[in-house]
Amino acid sequence: MTSATSANRQFLLWTLALLLLAGYGLHAIWTRGLPWAAGAATRLVPAAWERELGESIAASIAPGAKPCLEDTAARLARGLPGPSLYTFRVRCVASEEVNALAAPGGVILVYEGLLRAAVTREEIPAVLAHEMQHVRLRHSTRAIFRAFAIQAVISLAFGDPTGLVSQVAGGLGALHYMRADEEEADREGVLLLKRAGFDPLAMPALLESLDAATSGAPGGALTWISSHPDIKQRIATTRALARSIR
Ligand SMILES: [Zn+2]
Repeated sequence: MTSATSANRQFLLWTLALLLLAGYGLHAIWTRGLPWAAGAATRLVPAAWERELGESIAASIAPGAKPCLEDTAARLARGLPGPSLYTFRVRCVASEEVNALAAPGGVILVYEGLLRAAVTREEIPAVLAHEMQHVRLRHSTRAIFRAFAIQAVISLAFGDPTGLVSQVAGGLGALHYMRADEEEADREGVLLLKRAGFDPLAMPALLESLDAATSGAPGGALTWISSHPDIKQRIATTRALARSIR
């Protein structure tokens, strides 16, 4: 009787240990494997597929958006190192949302609420410099692969972005850049401002303006800040970098 109880207890302990190990393994696959797989998949994606996907997403999110800020985008594009896979197409969205987003492949949507929050003209190139880096470094494409992995692979395999576009447009809230992506877009954005002949201090100035404009604002206006966390740290980091290269 005693030995049977002890065997039962041992069996239970082993089962629990195995379940814990399996749980840990699944968690590790989910938290580390998915970003890795998304990164690997993104490297295989043709730029033409990104462009088609990005155009469809932009048309779906903001069908009435108008081309704008073309001279600023062209000047920044000339400051990019080496030949670019992408042609940048900036479109302004008639909305009070304080937001800007980079679709894969080169379309950048800038919401008028953000242009009004960027208090000086010099801060507008900083918006574009940051978003252009998200495109160029394929952060947007990778974020889509992370959030909509299965649909993205199906779309890539069959060359048809339709199903993926409706998922992305309907689930924009699920799209998040990784912290490292934000830091990279900030850093490369500051360097790009400098190379294109703009003041690199425009980046921390922009972040401060957006922080001030959106603190205490209703939830709907907070999109850009909520998708771009750690704003105080980013202001300090970009300011130090901008001062060092100015
Ligand atoms: Zn960003």
